Amino acid sequence: RFDVSPPLLNRLLQGQPQAFVQAIDDVGFDIPRGTTFSLVGESGSGKSTVARVVVGLYRPTQGSVTFDGTDLASIRSRKQMAPLRRRWAMIFQDPYASLNPRWRVRTIIAEPIRVHGLANGEAAIKRRVGELLELVGLSAQDGDKFAHEFSGGQRQRISIARALASEPEFLVCDEPTSALDVSVQAQILNLMKRLQRELGLTYLFISHDLAVVYHISDYVGVMYLGRLVEWAPAHELFTRPQHPYTRMLLEAIPDLEMSGRARTPVGGEVPSPIHPPAGCHFHPRCPFADGDRCQREVPMAHDIPGGGQVRCHAVEEGRMPPADVHTRG
Ligand code: SF4
Ligand code: MG
Repeated sequence: RFDVSPPLLNRLLQGQPQAFVQAIDDVGFDIPRGTTFSLVGESGSGKSTVARVVVGLYRPTQGSVTFDGTDLASIRSRKQMAPLRRRWAMIFQDPYASLNPRWRVRTIIAEPIRVHGLANGEAAIKRRVGELLELVGLSAQDGDKFAHEFSGGQRQRISIARALASEPEFLVCDEPTSALDVSVQAQILNLMKRLQRELGLTYLFISHDLAVVYHISDYVGVMYLGRLVEWAPAHELFTRPQHPYTRMLLEAIPDLEMSGRARTPVGGEVPSPIHPPAGCHFHPRCPFADGDRCQREVPMAHDIPGGGQVRCHAVEEGRMPPADVHTRG
């Protein structure tokens, strides 16, 4: 069970003057074992920052990340971290950039096996690499080739095989299909679903696109300018979205079997994450904003029926109309 408790952190910018890292502010959610939690948001929403904090690439300035009962911030040495570290892995958007072009695929996939000492001797390593390649729908002979000899979808399969080489339980996937054609996206998502079933994996899935996460998520969280504005079981979020921003994102999806009104683009520009609007960050774009409270007061998280939480004054005050998005079936 992976549990990220609020407040995770307020400002990651401190001490990192060169790299802008999106600050995240009071983001909390649990991912039950064996499920997929998707975090969705536009660029600048902080979703990739959450992913990188979760896998330990960034250290939170405040808050905690708890993995299977262990608070990761309490771990002080690499040696203490090593056995835990093997239990999660990350998959990135661009499989090409994350695969060493000078290494054969076999060497790339063997690296985590060697680092973690998961096979004894060259024959065992080779056998394990072959198994991993077959697990992701490639062949053992593909290990002799270089990454550039494969298509984008096949390269993502290779990076999934490498991620699985350390035998993780938890995979953090940052836009794993965003660089791929739609038909290839579906193949990779189906592969990920199958691997989850067969290996009992838990996923944190990052995407800018609610349509992509529709079929694979058990839970969906929506981020806006560093805040988790709503999270809920996927079916609840897609059929009874509460937050005005979630509704806007759902209405913008062209082919999610939506009935009702025509597709509406998401209105307005995303304000700068460096100087987000006061109060509710969404108020300049929100059709339900009430001039005063929304501009001054940060909405707190409230439980919603069906499980999940939302941060919105209008929802809390009961002045939101019923959502007019409906999924069929
Ligand atoms: Fe809109 Fe106010 Fe709700 Fe923010 S708090 S989403 S501005 S109604
Ligand atoms: Mg990103």
